[in-house]
Amino acid sequence: MFSKFILNTSFLFFVLTTFAQTDTGQKVNTVLIKVSDNIYMLKGNGGNIGLSFGGDGIFMIDDQYTDGIEQIQEDIKKKSDKPVRFLVNTHFHGDHTGGNAAMAQTGTVIFSQENVRNRLEEILRREKKKIPMESLPIVTFSEDLTFHFNGEKIYVFHVHNAHTDGDAMVYFTDSNVLHTGDVFFNGKYPFIDIENGGSLRGCIEGLKKAMLLINEDTKIIPGHGDVGTYKDLQNAMDMLTIIYKRVFANYMNKKTEDEVAKMTDLTKEYDDKGYGSGFIKTEAFLRMVYKSVAAERKPIEDNAEKNRQAREKMMKEQKEEKEKN
Ligand SMILES: [Zn+2]
Repeated sequence: MFSKFILNTSFLFFVLTTFAQTDTGQKVNTVLIKVSDNIYMLKGNGGNIGLSFGGDGIFMIDDQYTDGIEQIQEDIKKKSDKPVRFLVNTHFHGDHTGGNAAMAQTGTVIFSQENVRNRLEEILRREKKKIPMESLPIVTFSEDLTFHFNGEKIYVFHVHNAHTDGDAMVYFTDSNVLHTGDVFFNGKYPFIDIENGGSLRGCIEGLKKAMLLINEDTKIIPGHGDVGTYKDLQNAMDMLTIIYKRVFANYMNKKTEDEVAKMTDLTKEYDDKGYGSGFIKTEAFLRMVYKSVAAERKPIEDNAEKNRQAREKMMKEQKEEKEKN
């Protein structure tokens, strides 16, 4: 659902430079943006792609949609005739993994956190023709892994239950560039895929983890939006923390999701800065935060209810015991 949403709104970005016709007749526009000496961000219809060009070849992060991958492959070829040797998927969503099969066909080895492969396998089982078998990452990891490539260490690490349950961030240690995947939408409210293991608390923790690695000079490629800075990441983390606290307080005050969705004062200072002008509007964001708080509270509330029932049962038994005597 979210992928379709991006696809539609992406037609607004027609100022971009390259146009191509795909087999479905859809126009795809892409632009390659220099981030550091040899790291580039490729912006197109889907999630931002990260690329490292160098003597060892090309290292790639995410590959957008199936429609448009030929254009992306051509753009890469224009920059370097070396092969794309490795590709890391930051998570399973179709606007980040749609080009996997086409990349695999050219010999690229695809890596991801293990839950990305699990989710893609699930889609394969459910909707047979939706994605080809070759889309599956063939190397998976649980926590982290390091590539030694193009003269630097590339550190790939999992952040737990953030945008989904399989998110990975990629840090180019010498170039000092971080790709965050969709855990960070620069200057906009993010999408949190609660149904697929995402959580607001996980997003906040994930951003905190990233901030331990990077510094004030780091350039950040977000899942969506423009290249950002340390400060931008910090602003996103602060925004999520503040709105989480406000929605949490209302949840504890027994406000319903519909009531919270209408409380525009909870997000006002961020709405004024344009946070609600991206894919996720203010109301949708408030509902998402509410759902995330509710999901987090559920086991606690279930246990409290079990305790209450046990206490009542005990009191009833004691009363019956007294009446007998
Ligand atoms: Zn996503």
